[in-house]
Amino acid sequence: MGNKKQMFGTNGVRGVVGEMMTPTLVLKIGAALGSMRNGTIAVGRDTRTSGEALAHALKAGLLMTGCDVVDMGILPTPALQYIIKTDDRFAGGAMITASHNPPEYNGVKIIEADGTEMADDEIIRLEDRFFAGEFDAAAWDGVGTETAAPDRLEEYIQAVVGHFPAGIGKGMTVVVDPGSGPAALTTPVILERMGCRVHTINARLDGTFPGRMPEPTPEGLQPLSEMVIATGADFGVAHDGDADRAVFVDNKGRYIEENYEFGLIEDYVCSRNRGGLVVTPVATSRLIRDIAGKHGCTVDYTPVGSIYVARRMIELIGQGKNVSFGGEGNGGLIYPDHQFCRDGGMTAAMMVAVLASHNGRDLSGIIDELPVYHLVKEKYHAPDPAALVRAVEEALPGETIEKIDGIKIIRDDAWALVRASGTEPMIRIMIESKDPGVADTMYREIMQVVRQA
Ligand code: MG
Repeated sequence: MGNKKQMFGTNGVRGVVGEMMTPTLVLKIGAALGSMRNGTIAVGRDTRTSGEALAHALKAGLLMTGCDVVDMGILPTPALQYIIKTDDRFAGGAMITASHNPPEYNGVKIIEADGTEMADDEIIRLEDRFFAGEFDAAAWDGVGTETAAPDRLEEYIQAVVGHFPAGIGKGMTVVVDPGSGPAALTTPVILERMGCRVHTINARLDGTFPGRMPEPTPEGLQPLSEMVIATGADFGVAHDGDADRAVFVDNKGRYIEENYEFGLIEDYVCSRNRGGLVVTPVATSRLIRDIAGKHGCTVDYTPVGSIYVARRMIELIGQGKNVSFGGEGNGGLIYPDHQFCRDGGMTAAMMVAVLASHNGRDLSGIIDELPVYHLVKEKYHAPDPAALVRAVEEALPGETIEKIDGIKIIRDDAWALVRASGTEPMIRIMIESKDPGVADTMYREIMQVVRQA
């Protein structure tokens, strides 16, 4: 058995359709998963044009190994995860999605019976079966059956809305940009049920993504910003291609950098659950630590990747610890009272609650009060990235270094993260400080060390 994932990345396997990503590959993933799990598997997909073909392939692999399949049709990844978690009938699930990647990509995320994404050790087992072609094909009287259930979104919508007092969004106007993805079926309904007046843009399911790419970038969200201003909305919310992430524009149409989004929601969540832990990867802004401290909360750092955050939250709760919140600085936030995965619909709803808690103030004014941090990001080509990271560490004696993922050099007024890319022959470098001059000096120091190493 291998000890490293080869095909799957941090959030599933992805590739260009017709090149790496083919029905043959997905059929084998289905057969490998079906050989590892018994019972009923829930299958969902985002709006990509290749989704139907790949879903059929995945289901064929599951059925031939004796699993029953329930096809959930098009839905957000967190909706599929919620349904799997709450319905005991499901032994797991799989989502056909390439998340934020361009339209020509597609992929598979594997979901466990508890609604979490499959952990690394199980993914490695699945890959071993995949590469060895070890599939437990069922005999003629043992193959699975398929049923369709594309009508269970209401359960997810009700679960999200149920976390908030009735009518909390009364008087608010919100513009939703699902980016032609599955959140078009959920987020506008969630916000309307909370009492908001809702406008939409890019809200027709369309795998050609005619309005914008599945990654919600400031450039792609320009029409959303314009619509927020034109309608006098309180904020705009946009999702990535499978709606596990949400990003925002404020009432002035300004894109809210995702660490600020995290901090703003953290401030609200931690004010209601003081003294708990906030779990986040080492690459997240120090803003998260500042805001946690304000509420007597402590930050617990993980390697980069939402599955590590989710699993750490579960582990800490298992140890009897109070976990208030978790997430990444990319709009992927995890609410322990709801479910242990990133949830874009829940994040959109949470912004309504945040705004309601500020007694009618504008979102732009609240954002402007947050401390400003300066972040420098760099990539550096390296044939052996892990060796380069070690060499950088050795060249920095006397520094405070944390080794959760790569090396994090910690100073009072700044930090730097140097880590190997999981997918490409390069290292990623991040430096953050409140003082742009300090960030710049540290950047030059680190880059000098990297070049010499
Ligand atoms: Mg996603």
